Formats: sequence, structure tokens, C-alpha cells
Amino acid sequence: MGKVFVKSFGCQMNLSDAERVVGLLGEDGYGPTPEVAEADLLLVNTCAIRERSEDKLFSLLGEWRQLKREKPDMVIAVMGCVAQAMKDEIRRRNPAVDVVVGTHNFHELPELVAEVRRTRQPITRIGRLRDAIPDDMPTRREGGLHAWVPVIYGCSYFCTYCIVPYTRGPYQSREPDAIVREVEGLVAEGYREVTLLGQTVDRYGRELPEPTSLSALLRRLHAIEGLWRIRFLTSHPLDLDEDLVSTVAELPKVMEYFHVPIQAGCDRVLAEMKRGYTVAQYLEMVAMIRRIVPDATITGDLIVGFPGETDEDFEGTLALLDKVDFDLNNTAAYSPRPWTPAAKREDQVEDVIKAERLQRLNEKVTEGSHRNTRRQVGSVQEVLVEGPSSRNAAILTGRTRGNRVCYFPGGPEWVGRLVQVRITEARSFTLRGELLVPAPSLA
Ligand code: SF4
Repeated sequence: MGKVFVKSFGCQMNLSDAERVVGLLGEDGYGPTPEVAEADLLLVNTCAIRERSEDKLFSLLGEWRQLKREKPDMVIAVMGCVAQAMKDEIRRRNPAVDVVVGTHNFHELPELVAEVRRTRQPITRIGRLRDAIPDDMPTRREGGLHAWVPVIYGCSYFCTYCIVPYTRGPYQSREPDAIVREVEGLVAEGYREVTLLGQTVDRYGRELPEPTSLSALLRRLHAIEGLWRIRFLTSHPLDLDEDLVSTVAELPKVMEYFHVPIQAGCDRVLAEMKRGYTVAQYLEMVAMIRRIVPDATITGDLIVGFPGETDEDFEGTLALLDKVDFDLNNTAAYSPRPWTPAAKREDQVEDVIKAERLQRLNEKVTEGSHRNTRRQVGSVQEVLVEGPSSRNAAILTGRTRGNRVCYFPGGPEWVGRLVQVRITEARSFTLRGELLVPAPSLA
């Protein structure tokens, strides 16, 4: 049996793609290994969202090139968004790479690796972005209670800073039957929680030959016995409508958790980003969520240093954090990406200014997050117990419905169960609590 070592950069969708490739490789006799030195196949799943991720990729490939000198039979494969974007350029920069495979044909990887082993010739195989991604691929997950399930690939929004539509193609929903089959299989294996993935997950199903919606999919999944929790991400503010929010309110297995990036707190910047909404419209959407699901957790993404962003524009982003009670925000400094209109602009913001703004934003985001966790002290939260914490076997860890990590003392008999925990302490991003025994049945 061959051994494959996988390194995945970037988003949850990449983790999910990697699980599928490892599943496929399993059919070709490859088992995963956490040890690079043991591997016969080194696979990196790449992320192109920021320049820094690309730099990390080439530094990793440099290390792998050294390893290959000692073990020449080792095959090095690159998949994901950078593979799709840079194609042959990857091998020009690092000739030790044997296989480069794009985002729409990663299912061909086992065949390509076998061919390289036979011919000793490198291969670059990049499919067309409009090609359909095959469904029902075998998937090798880490095991546990939680699984990522992609429901929509690609994106058609073309925000002016984002490379995703150029590397993952137009959006493409999976057939609902295939998703339901996959989740039923997961539940049979012991999984209890799924997160449905898509760059614009709330747009799910609209382009299918028989159009459907995320609400309809949630209803079908909700009916699966043994499935306890469902989440979905990432939502786009233009697609998150009342019907979907009402479905979340109505279905108890669907978590009251909305990840809806706004990206900036200034209308001119939002328009230049081509996001399609204003700050006021975003605030209306937040008000709609709070009206229908009063205890909803709302998280987002924010970018600082978009070309032409002034100090005043940035102050608008900071001010937004006072208007929306975000639970958390992922933050990033703008990074120019190939093909995108924003990268061609001449009014790029200096790196030092971006770094300073990012630091101020992060401080404010952390402050908001801590304010939120503090508010939960004294409350009772439902937690799905994942296992002992990595530092102390007598402390259990799990996530609340709002996706906060929570730690509390307890024994192994609680692992894999839904429990109630009284929150006693709040850190910036995590909660501490005590198990309420006996816990009312929640599943
Ligand atoms: S919605 Fe915009 S930011 Fe999100 S993936 Fe699509 S193009 Fe990129």
C-alpha cells in the first residue's frame, strides 16, 4: 500500500476537496500518513486567495524538492486554485513537481499519479472551468462527529478583488439527491453534524435543471434521523433572504449561525468591490435576521486596504463594528490577485498602512468577540461534545450552537453526546463552563 501525505492550504472547501482526493487515492491503494518522510506521494492543495498563500506553497515545494533528492521515487502533486491559475508556471519554478491538476479535474489525480509512475514524465492537466465536477466521489474523512459537505462549487459574482471565479469557475450546485445520499451515509458512519459548503451557499440550487433552494435542501436534511446539527457557509448578503432565515428559525437541527461577509463599511468601497449592496442594505439584512432569529450568531469577513481606501473609509469599517453586533469577523489585508480589476488599479494602499489598519481592526474585532463571549456567562448552552481537550484529558471540548468552542470538566462517557453546559467564564474567543447533569435529551 502506498502512502500519501496531504497539506491543504486555505478554506474549508479545500479541506473538503482534499478529503475527496484522499478517498479516490484510497481506491488506488494509497493510505494517508501524517509523516512526510514516510510518503510515496506528497500532495499539496493550494489556495490563491492571497499572495502570501502562494509564497508559502513555493517554500513548501522547496522543502519537498530536497526530500525527493533522497527518495527519487516520491511523486509530488499540486492541486487547487494555484494549480488552476499558474498551470505550467509551477513546474517552471519547481521542476521537482510531477503532477499539476486543476480545480475541475482533481478527480483525475489517481490516474495521473499512476501515469507519472509508469512514464516518469511530468503532467499538467487543467480542465475547463465550465466542466461539471463529478458527484458521488468516495471521501476519506478524519472521522469524528462533524463533516464538511460541499453543495455548491465556484462563484459567479466576480467581486473586483477576488480570484475565486477565475480559479473555481461559475457556480455549480450539486444535485440534492446526491447530497442527501452523502449525508445519510455520514450519519450511518456516526457523524452527527454537517456543514454545507459553498462560496455563496445561500444561492444553492437556483441554476439546476429542476431549480431548488437551500431552504428546500435543509428541510430534506433535517428529516434524516440521527443527524443532530446542520450549518451552512458562506452566505452572500444579496442571496440571504427571509425564506432562508425563517427556515433556520423553524428547523431545530439547523444552527442559528450566519456567516455573511460585508467586507467593508463604506459604500464607495463596496461599490468599487462590486459587492452589490450598501452598508444600509446590509444593516437591513442584519435587522431581518435579528427579527426572525433573535439569538442568531452573525459572523463575517472584512478587508482593509482595498485600492483607494482612505483613512475615512477605513474609519467607516471600524464604525460598522459598533453598528452590527458581530460575533466574530475574519480579517485580511487586501492582496492584489491576477486577472482581478482591483489589482490593475494604480491607487494601491501602501503595505505599512494596510498593516497598521489591520492591527487596529483586529483589536476591535477581538474586543467585540470578547464582549460577545462575556454576555454568554451565566447562560446555558447546548454543546456537542467532540472529545478531551488536547492539553488536559479531564477537560472536554465541543461547540455551542453559535459555533463557539467551549471547555468544561467531564469524562469520556459524554463524548459524542449533546449536553447542556452552564457558561462560567469567557475568554476572547472561547468559553469555559460546567456540565449540567442530568442533561435533558436534546437530540
Ligand atoms: S462572492 Fe465575491 S468574494 Fe465571494 S467567492 Fe464570489 S467573487 Fe469571491
